[in-house]
Amino acid sequence: MKSIIKGGLVLLPHADDFVKLDIVVDDSGNISELGDDIAITGNEMTHVIDVTDKYIIPGLINAHAHLFASGNLSDKKPTAVVVKTIAALLQTKVGKKILTDRMKHNALTELRTGVTTIRSVGEFHYLDVKLRDDAEKEVGIYPNLLVSGFLLSITGGHGAPYLALESDSPWDGRKNVRKNVKAGVDWIKICATGGVTDARRVGEAGALQFTEEEMTAICQEAHKVNLMVAAHAQSTEGVRLALRAGVDTIEHGAAMDEEIIQLFKNNPKSYRGYSALIPTFAPAAPFTLLDPNDLKLDPITVKNAEIVYHNMITGYKQALENDIKIGVGNDASMTFVTHYDFWRELDYASQIANLKPIDVITRATAGNAEIIGLKDKIGTIEPSKMADLLILSTNPLNNLKHLTDIYCVVKSGTVVPDKNADFFEPLNALLDDIADNKLPESLNKISLEEE
Ligand SMILES: [Zn+2]
Repeated sequence: MKSIIKGGLVLLPHADDFVKLDIVVDDSGNISELGDDIAITGNEMTHVIDVTDKYIIPGLINAHAHLFASGNLSDKKPTAVVVKTIAALLQTKVGKKILTDRMKHNALTELRTGVTTIRSVGEFHYLDVKLRDDAEKEVGIYPNLLVSGFLLSITGGHGAPYLALESDSPWDGRKNVRKNVKAGVDWIKICATGGVTDARRVGEAGALQFTEEEMTAICQEAHKVNLMVAAHAQSTEGVRLALRAGVDTIEHGAAMDEEIIQLFKNNPKSYRGYSALIPTFAPAAPFTLLDPNDLKLDPITVKNAEIVYHNMITGYKQALENDIKIGVGNDASMTFVTHYDFWRELDYASQIANLKPIDVITRATAGNAEIIGLKDKIGTIEPSKMADLLILSTNPLNNLKHLTDIYCVVKSGTVVPDKNADFFEPLNALLDDIADNKLPESLNKISLEEE
């Protein structure tokens, strides 16, 4: 027995309410026992964590994040000159050190605010691989990290040239998979279509980029070495081609037809026979719901975000209706998406589809664990799983905002040191207004238009 977490109210797998249970954690940081009022046996070294009447849920899993930026408003679309300068800086040792420190800071911010596992889907220069390796040496201090290294994209495609390895044939695509594998990634991330952040014209966000043939080669190469493939796809046709090629997750998503629905549920070329959808509402909703003039937002970005957002909502609702596996990821690092408010993505997912808090919490824990391939280790509170826990002072099943009322976060049985995260107050106010007023209003309008 390494530690015992005593007196808390625990959310067990498949349960829809809390039960009072003690949690015993072994020396390796895994849960070894759950029980009612467990006695502490013989070992004085046992650390007792008293959480009497606090609410304990599994640590949250962010299935789509990046660590390279803060998400604050100051990180708005940079000019070409700024991008070039940053890229040049990143070629230097000093530049890499600055970015690594920033990524570390952002990963810790996620952890302190309840995210105990992050699937990072695209970073610069394999700094994410290094961060993951360093983190593994400091168990209990860092979140679990799954990393993807560079994106794979076509020449001039989404994320290229600085954030992506470019290729224009099936064989060159395979080569880029091999480069990422050699560097030590856990996932392969590809860009099936253009994206909002670097689109140069309206409509580019969902425009087709890789061909089906290229993506098929990439998926084969990745699956061959037991890695799964995540595809950025922001249009119906992009989603279709990526699924036909065998990708394992569709990031963002779009409206579906029957072929697409069937491919999600039964995808013969995917690694596990199905593909999952990870919508990301947090970076898209603010562009649509805030006044672009107030914020001096780039008009092309606003228009593309609007198209993508509505398409994503349609796809998300269809996925729910058709029992497609849906994960939760917030695309942290994008403008408006900080590392300390993952709860907002759960709130969007809940409000948009009228889901109960328990449904989205389950998707962001057990559901995400399965989708990212870690269901044997994380996602639920039960013996042999990692003791990754989010312990709250108020009941999150009554209101998802209670996910911010954190008593403590436990990573592998160790209480994560509390340090004030840097909160961006003006941004928080804007986003609170969206969640409380603008989003419900806009959803009313959408459902009226549909009828
Ligand atoms: Zn992303």
